[in-house]
Amino acid sequence: MKEFEITLPVGPAPDRERLRLEACRALGLPKTAQPSVVVLKRSLDARKDPVYRYRVAAYAPGEELPSSELPPLKDVHDAPSVIVVGAGPAGLFAAIKLVELGLRPVILERGQDVHRRKADVASLSRDGVLNPDSNYCYGEGGAGTFSDGKLFTRSSKRGDIYEVLGRLVEFGASPDIMIDAHPHIGSDKLPAVVEHIREAIIEHGGSYHFGTKVTSVSRLDSGTIAVEAVRDGESLVFESPAVILATGHSARDVYEMLSARGCELQAKGFALGVRVEHPRHIIDNARYHGKQIPGLGAAEYSFVEQVLDRGVFSFCMCPGGVLVPSSTEDGTVVLNGMSNSARNSKWSNAGVVVQIEPEDVPEKYRPAGAFALMDFQHDVEKAMYDYVQGKGAKHPFAAPGQRMKDFCRGIESVSLPASSYFPGVVSAPLHELLPDFIYKRMRLVFPTVDRKIHGYYTNDALLLGVESRTSSPIRIVRDSETLESPSMSGLYPCGEGAGYSGGIVSSAIDGIRCALAAASRF
Ligand SMILES: Cc1cc2nc3c(=O)[nH]c(=O)nc-3n(C[C@H](O)[C@H](O)[C@H](O)COP(=O)(O)OP(=O)(O)OC[C@H]3O[C@@H](n4cnc5c(N)ncnc54)[C@H](O)[C@@H]3O)c2cc1C
Repeated sequence: MKEFEITLPVGPAPDRERLRLEACRALGLPKTAQPSVVVLKRSLDARKDPVYRYRVAAYAPGEELPSSELPPLKDVHDAPSVIVVGAGPAGLFAAIKLVELGLRPVILERGQDVHRRKADVASLSRDGVLNPDSNYCYGEGGAGTFSDGKLFTRSSKRGDIYEVLGRLVEFGASPDIMIDAHPHIGSDKLPAVVEHIREAIIEHGGSYHFGTKVTSVSRLDSGTIAVEAVRDGESLVFESPAVILATGHSARDVYEMLSARGCELQAKGFALGVRVEHPRHIIDNARYHGKQIPGLGAAEYSFVEQVLDRGVFSFCMCPGGVLVPSSTEDGTVVLNGMSNSARNSKWSNAGVVVQIEPEDVPEKYRPAGAFALMDFQHDVEKAMYDYVQGKGAKHPFAAPGQRMKDFCRGIESVSLPASSYFPGVVSAPLHELLPDFIYKRMRLVFPTVDRKIHGYYTNDALLLGVESRTSSPIRIVRDSETLESPSMSGLYPCGEGAGYSGGIVSSAIDGIRCALAAASRF
């Protein structure tokens, strides 16, 4: 086998004949030979005229190709059970791994299946009716279902990443995600993938319980963990020697329950700021130098700057995407972004956030201990709500907004640009609504970014409050070897809500790790 790199024009698929000839050359074969060609990676190079760079493996005729097959799922109908709380990426990938290992996952999810959840998020955006258990954060597939479905991670464990991506392809995602440097699935495709995962888990013997909110976990003298839950007002109890708790970063009730049960929690740094929405052509022009190439897709950007000793960075960019209300409770405003697979809206948005450490939050929050940063987060979300409702907003999840240059200059905007945010935007002094230690860093970052992304610093860009659910503000302490809570043997705090991952892929990887750890008990 020989690997080589080749630059080809942007397009949906590489020119197979060029690849074959290049493979013959790399292997020292005559031009008529038929080597096997495997594309390993495809990345867009837009430093000058945009082109695709391919990394390719060439195999001589007769040479064996490496297998990319994942281990099969087992029949677990009669196997011992492991309870998985939460059907987000962490919970679902834990469940798949358990089935692969011959254990029977029992999945408890407070939200609804993805079909009913679609109706719930539509009603949230359209009518302002929030179902506190089924929304953009809660329900089958977790916070990642209605998202851009970006699948990149800072994790460097290639094997783990390929396992997650491989399973997603097995359950219906495009095989392109295996080779793209910046893979994504899109909100129009993710629900079907999540449904296929469910079908496979149930077919092999696992079970799902939707609308089932876990209210308590406690260890019994028998050595098992009792998990109490409510569904439609009815109390239920499930039992297993191992419980994977993957409830995401928004379930305050879960943290409070754990704290009451004596489980150790810690305040954890997170990031908070605004969603920035540009007309898409501004970002496309800046990244593609004004070139319009069919098949190129909406342009991405990302940046990290150090401002006054804190990281200020872009977060969860949605090229060609839309803004969505991702509050989990009434009386708060929280924004996030999502895109369809084609990424073809008129806008491109990203969170721009400031890293916050526990020592940064005002003194008044400190007595809350592990909950200090979560309380701070909640107060900022509530301040956004109070402001827009005080201005007579027509929708309970209308967001405060300000033009970018006005924000940096500290003046309210007299008019606002059009936005993809369906609940509506109310002109607001975000420079006053955001805590000062955040504002003073954010106002410096936008002009700086303009040096790299020309045209970024513009009053045609709209800032909206608030981007606050970036990662968990609380960590559920777990043993670094066994991954169990030191306070409750058999309880595996998992994923983003426990403070051990951020994003779809790293949460899925953490789910797999917790499943392996839980399986070692049996
Ligand atoms: C709109 C949006 C867009 C996003 N876009 C991207 C993106 O493009 N790429 C990316 O990598 N990340 C994205 N993210 C972040 C990503 O979704 C999360 O990092 C990831 O989903 C975390 O996975 P998790 O399984 O740890 O938790 P979650 O996905 O939050 O799942 C937790 C699950 O637990 C359930 N639960 C909570 N409490 C209970 C309880 N008491 N009983 C039973 N069930 C409970 C919840 O209903 C939820 O389904 C986005 C997030 C949002 C909100």
